[in-house]
Amino acid sequence: MHFNSTQNNKNIVNSAQAIAQGLSPDGGLFVPQSFPKINLQELINLTYNGRAKSVLGLYLTDYSAPELANCVDNAYNAEKFGSDNPTPITAQSFNGTQINFLELWHGPTSAFKDMALQILPHLLTLAYKKEEAGKQALILVATSGDTGKAALEGFKDVPNTQIAVFYPENGVSEIQKFQMNSQAGENVLVCGINGNFDDAQTAVKRLFNTQTLINKLAAKNTMFSSANSINFGRLVPQVVYYISAYCDMVNGGKIAMGEQINVVVPTGNFGNILAAYYAKRMGLPIGKLICASNSNNVLAEFINTGVYNKNRKFFTTISPSMDILVSSNLERLLYHLCGENSDTVAAMMQSLKTNGSFTVADDVKAEISELFYGNSCTEEETQQTIKQLFEQSCYLCDPHTAVAVNVYDKYAKQTGDCKTPVLLVSTASPYKFPAAVLDALDAKQQGVASCKNEFEMLDVLNSLTGAPVPAPILNLKTQTKRFANLTEVPDMEQFLTEKLGLN
Ligand SMILES: *Cc1c(COP(=O)(O)O)cnc(C)c1O
Repeated sequence: MHFNSTQNNKNIVNSAQAIAQGLSPDGGLFVPQSFPKINLQELINLTYNGRAKSVLGLYLTDYSAPELANCVDNAYNAEKFGSDNPTPITAQSFNGTQINFLELWHGPTSAFKDMALQILPHLLTLAYKKEEAGKQALILVATSGDTGKAALEGFKDVPNTQIAVFYPENGVSEIQKFQMNSQAGENVLVCGINGNFDDAQTAVKRLFNTQTLINKLAAKNTMFSSANSINFGRLVPQVVYYISAYCDMVNGGKIAMGEQINVVVPTGNFGNILAAYYAKRMGLPIGKLICASNSNNVLAEFINTGVYNKNRKFFTTISPSMDILVSSNLERLLYHLCGENSDTVAAMMQSLKTNGSFTVADDVKAEISELFYGNSCTEEETQQTIKQLFEQSCYLCDPHTAVAVNVYDKYAKQTGDCKTPVLLVSTASPYKFPAAVLDALDAKQQGVASCKNEFEMLDVLNSLTGAPVPAPILNLKTQTKRFANLTEVPDMEQFLTEKLGLN
């Protein structure tokens, strides 16, 4: 299997190179040159890990079967995910339809990014062994909350790696901040910055290209690397859970083998829903891909109009992991839908850079409408959905998942299609966002007003709903804070140099 850049299809790499490099030197993303086909009959009797080994093996052909087996078994196990099936499905009814919730938040950080970031470090260190003569990797991450903690957990104590995470001091929830600052591991570094997420992101991108740092690292046989969602090594593990969920639905008698399902995904950077599209291209019987946006509805609008326009107001919402105006992984979809023409994609990305917008051709727009349904959900609707779902089914969901439930409801009402079985991706535990969820439940009277912090809210939410608090969040109460770093943006280089002993 080979991969080429979305912006120059003459830049061709193998799977280990795609993972080691992350981004193509021309600025494009690596995409597979073909979609291998799955054999559901073979996969259906396997465990999650068995299915993962088989699906990863179709793309990562530079890794041996024992290597992949090791990666998979180290990433997904009962110790980390609480059971042998890391991605359980629970069926709940909402406004008269049954929704199958695919819970992707049973991992160490209680959000779906664990599914990719628990395995990426293993894939990346092997790729470095194969392609970079065993150099060490320094992973730099700018985070708005979920990615930072998931990357820290994934890379902690992984040999030949170090990881440094920067987060906006005033832009993450209390729980998220403590999750990061209590991080265990000998190779981890965490630091708040005075600035917002964009400032952190821009500064990290600049550090990646700072020659003085690059030279100092090179003297220690180390290279910068990124763990963000444009790396193919984060995308391919996400394809697995759609295929596995389908098998589980067949085995559970919810669907017949071969029957079509619709998939609903709360979307930000377009990585998760793109993985569902890849699963469809590999032969998984998926009907509509339903793309749910919050108030930052740039993607939903794109699906409906064929115009992507990031020149708009940015909203800070209660589903912060979807507060994104440039969805990086959309570039891969555009490549696959524009006749795999990298010149067309490069022109669109250039237009996005210079004008903040681009428009797709009519035939591409038509194909997008055939494959996708897009809609968005306001803050008020998100809160109402959390409340209504809980009242109707006693099932508590987080604000990101609620956005998906609301958009699915709109889809069913608008199209009349409520017969096709539906798989809805639940991306975070409600206990990661206790303030927003309690507020949605209208629980102000239940002693919330007297809560001093989000940790006290966990208990209130738990006694109010009876929904169990995931162990990793419960355990936070007994963790000690290891990091209390805070830096100004211009001082980040100095911070890294000192803390990593690069002088
Ligand atoms: C990252 C994230 C999303 C968005 O996923 P994308 O792959 O970026 O579209 C949705 N929900 C939660 C909880 C997340 O952490």
